Amino acid sequence: MNTSSSGRFATAVNCIDGRLQQPVSDFVRNRFAVDFVDMVTDAGVVASIHQGVLDSVKISVESHNSVGIAVVAHENCAGNPIPEKAQRTQCLEAAQLLALYWPELEVVPLWVPADRSVEIIPRK
Ligand SMILES: [Zn+2]
Repeated sequence: MNTSSSGRFATAVNCIDGRLQQPVSDFVRNRFAVDFVDMVTDAGVVASIHQGVLDSVKISVESHNSVGIAVVAHENCAGNPIPEKAQRTQCLEAAQLLALYWPELEVVPLWVPADRSVEIIPRK
């Protein structure tokens, strides 16, 4: 048990886009039944899960005992302006990569359309 933190945490690997922060945080809190969501952000993050992203996820997992990871792509992404289908594929690949690093955690790929609803991307 980690006594340095109170409450349960999950981790979201998310775009920087301000429109996404609240809906993603709410969805992930509910999905993993946690109190807090550590938000690891980079512009169009699913296009490149680089070392900086992995380092931040590692801190969330190890210091906050994160119980699960969400990875997020979204419509109208300025940081990753490619078609939706390609973004969804990148998001699934990003989820697979994160699952290799943290096989003990559930990793959930998410898509956020322009209406800011949040949906889980089905595996192919
Ligand atoms: Zn974006």
